[in-house]
Amino acid sequence: MSGVGGHTLYPGLRTDGGWQFPSCLNMAAQALDHPDEQLALIDLTTGARRDIRYGELRQMVDAVARDLMQRVQPGDRVGVLLSQSVDCAVAHLAIWKIGAISVPLFKLFQHDALASRIGDAGVELVLTDGGGAAQLGSLAQPLLVADILSASAGHSDHLLPYAETTPETPAVLIYTSGTTGSAKGALHGHRVLSGHLPGVAISHDHLGQPGDCLWTPADWAWIGGLFDVLMPGLALGVPVVAARLDKFTPEACADIIRQGDVRNVFFPPTALRLLKAAGQGLDGLRSVASGGEPLGAEMLAWGQRHLGVTINEFYGQTECNMTVSSCVADFPVRPGCIGRPVPGCTVEVLDDTGIPTKDEGDVAVRRGAASMMLEYWNRPDATAEKFHDDWLITGDRGIWEGGYLRFVGREDDVITSAGYRIGPAEIEDCLMTHPAVATVGVVGKPDALRTEIVKAYVVLKPGHSPSEKDLQDYVKSRLAKYSYPREVEFLNALPMTVTGKVIRKELKARAAGEVQ
Ligand code: ATP
Ligand code: MG
Repeated sequence: MSGVGGHTLYPGLRTDGGWQFPSCLNMAAQALDHPDEQLALIDLTTGARRDIRYGELRQMVDAVARDLMQRVQPGDRVGVLLSQSVDCAVAHLAIWKIGAISVPLFKLFQHDALASRIGDAGVELVLTDGGGAAQLGSLAQPLLVADILSASAGHSDHLLPYAETTPETPAVLIYTSGTTGSAKGALHGHRVLSGHLPGVAISHDHLGQPGDCLWTPADWAWIGGLFDVLMPGLALGVPVVAARLDKFTPEACADIIRQGDVRNVFFPPTALRLLKAAGQGLDGLRSVASGGEPLGAEMLAWGQRHLGVTINEFYGQTECNMTVSSCVADFPVRPGCIGRPVPGCTVEVLDDTGIPTKDEGDVAVRRGAASMMLEYWNRPDATAEKFHDDWLITGDRGIWEGGYLRFVGREDDVITSAGYRIGPAEIEDCLMTHPAVATVGVVGKPDALRTEIVKAYVVLKPGHSPSEKDLQDYVKSRLAKYSYPREVEFLNALPMTVTGKVIRKELKARAAGEVQ
C-alpha cells in the first residue's frame, strides 16, 4: 500500500509519494534553516529554563565544526556521548556540517556496550562531557563540547560553509536496540531527516501548529529521540525541550511538561505504562505519539481518559523509521493497529514468495523511502539478508485490516502451536487489560506435542493475586480457545532493554530451559 500522497509540505517528497532531492543535501543545513530569532531549543537540564534561538545555535555548531575540522576528515566516524542537552544537538549538527558521520552513544552504556560500538564503528574521537570522558577511559579520545564552546571567540559573522554532501552521503551510524541479538549499526545518508518528517508530523496531528513544543523522555542516542523528536523538531521549526530525566518518574515528567510548555510528546510505551501504573494523568498536551513496542488498545483508552488526547501509535525501526502511523486528525485510530503507511513510504505485507498478500506475512518497505538505511555498517551479509529485491524486510509480521496495519509480532516471536500461528502482541494486549496485570511477556515454549505452547510471564500489580486459571480463562473468553496461555508464570520483573523493551529472547530461553 502506498502512502496518502499529495504533499508539498515536506522537502523532497513529490506529490506521487516518491522522493526527489537536490544533488547537494546536508542535514545540518536543513535543521538550522530558520531565522536567527526563532526559538530552537529549550534547555531545562540545569534547573532554570534557557532558550536557545537558531542564530545562537548556528554559532555554537560552527565553533564545534571549526574545531572538528582540525581533527577529522569527511567520512570519519565521531562518537556523541551526551544525554539530552544543547551540547548533544550541537555535536551531531557540527559533525554533519563537516561531512563526518556521527555515532550516537547512550550515556547509560557500561564499558562493554561502549567498547563494542566504538570498536565496530571505528570511532577514535568522541564529543562528550566530563562524565563521558571518564566513562570512555582509553576506549577513544574524548573532546569536551563545553570546553570548545567556552574557548570559542563567541559571535562570528563569517559562517562556515556546509560540506557538499549528497542525499546518499553517510551521515549517521545508529545502532539498533539489540532486542533480538547483538545491536547492528544502521548507516544512514543525509536524506534520513527528510524521510522522518512526514511520519513525525502526522503522528503529532500535523506538528507545527502555533504553540507546539516537542519533548520526549527517550534519550537522544536512539532513533526515537534523535530522529523522531530532536532533528525533525529543528527542521520543522518546532521548539524542542532538552531535559534530564535520570530516572523516569511521573512527577518529574509532569514538571518538565509544565516548565517547558510542552504540547507534543513522544512517549515510548514503557513510559506510558509507568504513568498509567502511577495513575498520573497529564494536562495541556495537544498530541502524543508512541511507538517502538506494541501500545495496546487498553493504553489507547487510558490515554483518552488521562492525557486528554488519542495517542497516535506509529511503527518503524532503526533501519527504516516512521513507516506506518496513526493520525487521529486525519482518520480514526483503529485500536490494536499501528496505523497506515506514511507519505513517502510504500509498505506491504509479503507472502513467503515475496508477493503482497491479504493474509499475515512479512512487513516490508519498498526501496526508495528516504528514511531507509544505506546498509548495515561493516556487515554485507546482514545487509544482503535484510533486502529482498525491491524490499527491505522488517523482520516483523503483520496483516492488513481495512487499510490499517496490525502488528502480529517479530518474526522470531510468532508462536507455532498445534498448526496455528499465534502473535504474542495480541495475547499481551489482552492480558494487559486484566486489572491485576502490570506487565506481561508472551513467548512460545517448546512442546513435543504442539511444537510450541503459549507461555505468559506476568508481573502483577501490588495487592493482586489471580490464579493461573483466572488469567487463562480471561484470554480464552476474549481471544481464541487455541491461543490462551497454557502456562502462566508470575515474575517480579521482566528482562528489559535499556530502551524499555521486553527481551522476549530471554524469556524464550527461560521457557526452553524448563523443558529439559
Ligand atoms: P534489534 O534489531 O537489535 O533486535 P530492535 O528491533 O528492538 O532491536 P529498534 O530498531 O529500536 O531495535 O526497534 C524496531 C522494532 O521495534 C521493530 O522492528 C518492531 O519489532 C518494534 N516496533 C516498533 N514500533 C512498534 C509498534 N508500534 N508496535 C509493535 N512493535 C513495534
Ligand atoms: Mg530490529
